[in-house]
Amino acid sequence: MIDLRSDTVTKPTSAMRQAAFEAEVGDDVYGEDPTVQRLEAKAAEMLGKDAALFVTSGTQGNQISVLTHCQPGNEVLLEESSHLFLYEGASMSAFAGVQPRTIPGVRGAMNPEDIRAAIRPEDVHFPETGLICVENTHNKAGGAIVPLENMQAIYDVARTHNIPVHLDGARLFNAAAASGISVKRYADQVDTVQFCLSKGLGAPVGSVIAGSAEFITKARKWRKRLGGGLRQVGIIAAPGLVALNDMTDRLTVDHTHARRLAEGIGNIQGLEIEGKVETNMVLVNVGRLGQTAEEFLERMKEADVLANPFGPQTIRLVTHYDVNEQEIEKVIERVNDIAASLR
Ligand SMILES: *Cc1c(COP(=O)(O)O)cnc(C)c1O
Repeated sequence: MIDLRSDTVTKPTSAMRQAAFEAEVGDDVYGEDPTVQRLEAKAAEMLGKDAALFVTSGTQGNQISVLTHCQPGNEVLLEESSHLFLYEGASMSAFAGVQPRTIPGVRGAMNPEDIRAAIRPEDVHFPETGLICVENTHNKAGGAIVPLENMQAIYDVARTHNIPVHLDGARLFNAAAASGISVKRYADQVDTVQFCLSKGLGAPVGSVIAGSAEFITKARKWRKRLGGGLRQVGIIAAPGLVALNDMTDRLTVDHTHARRLAEGIGNIQGLEIEGKVETNMVLVNVGRLGQTAEEFLERMKEADVLANPFGPQTIRLVTHYDVNEQEIEKVIERVNDIAASLR
């Protein structure tokens, strides 16, 4: 099977398994796990923030951030197809008691003027705007890079109104690798960041949130309340350190593979690439072959290639560490054969 469903399917590298085996550990709820401390210090340094916190998943990191920034009854502004809105089980409503308010986006980028207009004035009828969330790279927009200038403009609006900004940077390292702009420069445009170690960076488990020392102190308590305080967790933080040390620069390889996929599949009659391929995702529309996404994916599965549905007639292919150049060529050939049989 060639598995292009997501970059979450990567298995830990042998260096990661070795690091886990050898990790120096302690009880992290007592703040005594040296490996976790090293991971958090390294992440904070890379992002240019005071402090960082290792959390179990991207969803947990985002929700801890919402809980830490907001009060019940607040309103959160976020892009209408953001992961925080679409794919986190309405956790911000369920846990933080806040109301999400969506803003339209173009390839994941919200118009700063729409944000300015959506910020609530003081009025007894209104919720207070408690947080603005941005996402980079933007998953639903096919791994689109939200431009740094857009983030800057949003941060300017936010600061004028004293509203914090959180970055869902699950794939921030992909944005950095593709744009040549450091993760720190992106992180400079927000108050807090969440990024995933377990996606393109290849670690088996975990995410990191980063922000001011005060924010991280409060976030640590929310993590504990949510049952995310773990003990000898250096075992899983050690692969995360390998991810930060060894796996960030190679993301450009995944991006090259995605561009090659888009080029190869884009040349197949009946298939269309949706949007631009900027990082490690390729969206393919199969509608002109008279197929639904599910039908086409079933045929791909018979040819030992896995991908995910992403719309009624759209499929998503994600490149990652466990797929090599030869496999990319095989995928193009097999998709070509399927399309030919359907024409
Ligand atoms: C994957 C993802 C998350 C959530 O991460 P999990 O570790 O799967 O909970 C959050 N935001 C974005 C943009 C993602 O792609």
